[in-house]
Amino acid sequence: MSEQRTENLIILGGGPAGYTAALYAARANLEPLVIEGFQWGGQLQNTTDVENYPGYPEGIMGPEMMNQFRAQAERFGTRFVTDDADRVELTDGGVQRLFVGDDEYVGKAVILSMGAEPRRLGIPGELELSGHGVSTCGVCDGAFFKGEEVAVIGGGDSAMEDSIFVSKYASTLTIVHRRDDFRASKIMLERALAQPNIETKTPFVPEEFLAGDDGKIRAIRLRHAETGETEELEVGGAFVAIGHIPRSELVAEQVLVDDGGYVLTEGTSTRTNLAGVFAVGDLVDHTYRQAVTAAGTGCMGALDAEWYLRDTPPSPEAHWRKGGEPVEVAPNPS
Ligand code: NAP
Repeated sequence: MSEQRTENLIILGGGPAGYTAALYAARANLEPLVIEGFQWGGQLQNTTDVENYPGYPEGIMGPEMMNQFRAQAERFGTRFVTDDADRVELTDGGVQRLFVGDDEYVGKAVILSMGAEPRRLGIPGELELSGHGVSTCGVCDGAFFKGEEVAVIGGGDSAMEDSIFVSKYASTLTIVHRRDDFRASKIMLERALAQPNIETKTPFVPEEFLAGDDGKIRAIRLRHAETGETEELEVGGAFVAIGHIPRSELVAEQVLVDDGGYVLTEGTSTRTNLAGVFAVGDLVDHTYRQAVTAAGTGCMGALDAEWYLRDTPPSPEAHWRKGGEPVEVAPNPS
């Protein structure tokens, strides 16, 4: 029977954060293994033009950019498993075990970079018109809606931030929210409402995104939350900004996460509460969530892991410990 290899570093998740971590780790001769997911590439795989990533003055398509990130990591010796992990067993300073189907991967350190996904309304037309006028990222796509009448759906800080950004391009912008009160911080709400071309429409619940003859969004059907009456709001674009869901389900019982499920890290580092387990990118960040910020934290994660492996490698015997009991952590502080 062949002896199981103990990896130096396993990176879980193949988006900008994971591939950047892999690039740095590979150049540090750690020969990282990336379990990149069956649909590798993260949120950029569903994006068209990316115009705000430095170094691409003409812009680049999201999937092509992810191809390049991946190829750059591969060039220095990164290896990939193009499948989804089903289970992980994390330890505090021991070896880390990750399972993909029947295959087990063992590493001295792991970087968690599974990202986040935008929360969806789950209404007809939302997925069908994604990329045809319906977007989940105002900062990414706002500039494509110059002179259009657009709507932003949501009442939190993300909705306000998207509205402020998109209102620079749109002719008029309507913030559609399901309650009369906004969850957003006072300052963000005030800033949004101070824009001359922003107005609010409450309490309205979006029921359907409607397409025009050209296959792009034409209107949103809205239902008044109290009277139940419906009406159509004609728009040339709609931004769904109702929060994000971090993809922490595999690890949420093992590392500390906050109320929203984001993995908690120590200070400005990428260290989780478990020695040898690091977390980067949108899995950690509920504020910035940009490809460039995710890539930056991926770099930080690789450096933190490199320093950890240099200074405090787990004992080789730990690998052969039977069972590899997952670490129990106290319930999250609420
Ligand atoms: P959030 O605070 O959870 O707000 C989500 C908003 O979407 C809420 O208004 C919610 O309505 C609405 N919503 C949720 N599900 C909905 C549905 N199915 N249909 C219609 N509306 C729905 O999320 P967020 O705005 O992304 O903010 C997340 C965190 O990041 C917050 O802590 C925020 O302060 C922070 N953040 C900060 C900044 C900044 O300071 N620059 C920018 C972005 C985010 P209800 O209110 O009715 O529940």
